[in-house]
Amino acid sequence: MPLYQSNQIKIYNSLTGKKEVFQPINEGYVGMYVCGPTVYSYVHLGNVRTFMSFDMVFRYLKHLGYKVRYVRNITDAGHLENDEDAGEDKVAKKARLEQIEPMEVVQKYTVDFHNVLNNFNFLPPSIEPTATGHIIEQIELISKIIENGFAYEVNGSVYFDVHTFNKTSSYGKLSKRVLEDLIHNTRTLDGQSDKKNPQDFALWKKAEPQHIMRWPSPWGDGFPGWHLECTAMSTKYLGDKFDIHGGGMDLKFPHHECEIAQNEAAKGCSPVNYWMHANMLELNGARMSKSTGNTVNPHELLSGENNFFSKAFTPGVVRFFNAQSSYRSVLDLTNDGLLASEKGFYRLMDGIKVLKSINASGNSSLNVSEWRQKCYDAMNDDFNSPILISHLFEAVKYINQIKEGKASISADDLKTLKNTMNAFVFEVLGLENDEETNSSSDKLAGAVEVLIKLRQEARANKDFALSDKIRDELATVGIVLKDGKDGTTFSIN
Ligand SMILES: [Zn+2]
Repeated sequence: MPLYQSNQIKIYNSLTGKKEVFQPINEGYVGMYVCGPTVYSYVHLGNVRTFMSFDMVFRYLKHLGYKVRYVRNITDAGHLENDEDAGEDKVAKKARLEQIEPMEVVQKYTVDFHNVLNNFNFLPPSIEPTATGHIIEQIELISKIIENGFAYEVNGSVYFDVHTFNKTSSYGKLSKRVLEDLIHNTRTLDGQSDKKNPQDFALWKKAEPQHIMRWPSPWGDGFPGWHLECTAMSTKYLGDKFDIHGGGMDLKFPHHECEIAQNEAAKGCSPVNYWMHANMLELNGARMSKSTGNTVNPHELLSGENNFFSKAFTPGVVRFFNAQSSYRSVLDLTNDGLLASEKGFYRLMDGIKVLKSINASGNSSLNVSEWRQKCYDAMNDDFNSPILISHLFEAVKYINQIKEGKASISADDLKTLKNTMNAFVFEVLGLENDEETNSSSDKLAGAVEVLIKLRQEARANKDFALSDKIRDELATVGIVLKDGKDGTTFSIN
């Protein structure tokens, strides 16, 4: 029986403002879409936090036995500087400044994005579609929205008609905004005079002659509006209505609001059952911002080359730091916070090391199955990783007591404890013991130990030719074996 049958998850749904029991559209399957990065510069650490939170959600759903199709897109066109309809395309601007092709910009920062995520031990999404790879789908979607009467063309651009949409639905239902207030608060910007109303947003923008990223369309050469790609790609791979849509809090408005409007206008239904938003990451209590200099990128955090932190922190420590607060809370990145997480992280890893060496004897002093259920209950409660971690530390305390002879554990419970610790620490939280996995000298030592063992087996089988060969070949690469009465040791020259 898959674990999801005995674990009812509750998800905080940003659309309703309530925690709701998660019921996937198709039993056993989950469709999840998360807005990916705009690849015009190094990925922002705040975005890494968002993706890390959804990596954990993805991991937990998989752990429960769901078959998850996780789609996270790459925005490589259409994202304008002010996040709405004005300014230059972010990718095109970078290409102009660096005097390279837009697709070179895209390639460079997509590769970097993947490297950063690999460093942090992310699972790859099931599909990672790009905006430029789905221009045809976006054009089809626009045609449908025009046909249904919710968009209009002016001078080669197409705009979504928010006011008409609002007559039959409510624009602002996700971000809890009211159209009247938006009308009151919107300034009319230059260059937006094509729109019937300033609240309307672009589905397709006419490309001026100097604009390099352009595609032919029924309305002339142009490029898609930013909000449109996510509607095109999410519904293409997950269906007109799917289970979970995630993203950073800053995307609620206008981006996600527009996604809902586009989907309702094109397909007649709201696209998503559960909207999830990860909260912001701050640096020393203030918003991260390039213009104020209060910012650090993932590379600088991991290398220690920055002005904010006393040392470099490993990816495992950063992941642990993130999991110590709920994805819905603002997370403040500070030196003290990271140092405390580092201590906690290694205490947890030491606990796991000790767990490998302890033996079962007698009855358990801790109710292990009750403890295990508490771990699941924490994650079932809107992926409450800080509570989960407090239970993991309860286990670490118990493990250390067993080691010191102050507590005992039965054979069955030891097995449960090991399985549960490994599942939550490595599989669900995605932590890796940096000491074990990142040290290449440890790996080399492990490999030489394997060869020493094979050599012992060869000798036991009187295959001296092979045993000598192993010794001699290792010597040629500078690894010298020395046979002593306590076994074979080695040195690296
Ligand atoms: Zn999006």
